[in-house]
Amino acid sequence: MAKKSHGPNKHGHDHGNDDGHDHAHDPLEEGAALRVRALEEIVVAKGLVDPDALDAIVEYYERETGPRNGAQVIARAWTDPDFKDWLLKDGTAAINSLGFSGYQGEHIRVIENTDTVHNVVVCTLCSCYPWPVLGLAPAWYKSPAYRSRVVREPRVVLQEFGLNLASSVKVRVWDSTAEVRYLVLPRRPPGSEGMDAPELANIITRNGMIGTASV
Ligand code: FE
Repeated sequence: MAKKSHGPNKHGHDHGNDDGHDHAHDPLEEGAALRVRALEEIVVAKGLVDPDALDAIVEYYERETGPRNGAQVIARAWTDPDFKDWLLKDGTAAINSLGFSGYQGEHIRVIENTDTVHNVVVCTLCSCYPWPVLGLAPAWYKSPAYRSRVVREPRVVLQEFGLNLASSVKVRVWDSTAEVRYLVLPRRPPGSEGMDAPELANIITRNGMIGTASV
């Protein structure tokens, strides 16, 4: 399995393939992806499935099912300080306690946005992503443009997502690996004081938990 393990890449870190990476791809994951693609081609070719319908289903898993799990984790952290402490110390265990675990969620580290630090997650070399809490990675997360640019010019990329950070806020870019997946704990927005956990979960977005949105 993968051997890469490196910490956060700060703004300006020149991330290339020259820093000793041997970011092994998970053969299980790759084999599954190829099989899925083969199956998709067959069922579409036979007219059994409309590719648009398939896209709609994928979209649903990307935006709805998976990220709803993560939103519950974040909402709990916003409303339960003890849970939040646990989540930041041992993300995997705290997340497991809510029933979210499984493949690509074996080691999840949760990183907290503050007044002074904004975190954003990437996998520079492939598409590592915490499936149990976020579902399937969106296409942009896997795109070479995002993977290279968010490291070199995170503020510009975040602006393109509509997120304009004050210049006083530091941006930290975290490079996911097969060993560690990151989940961003966004700041609880002003005006949400009266909301309970289910209401809060509804305002938490997938992009907020990747770091390309504020919430
Ligand atoms: Fe990856």
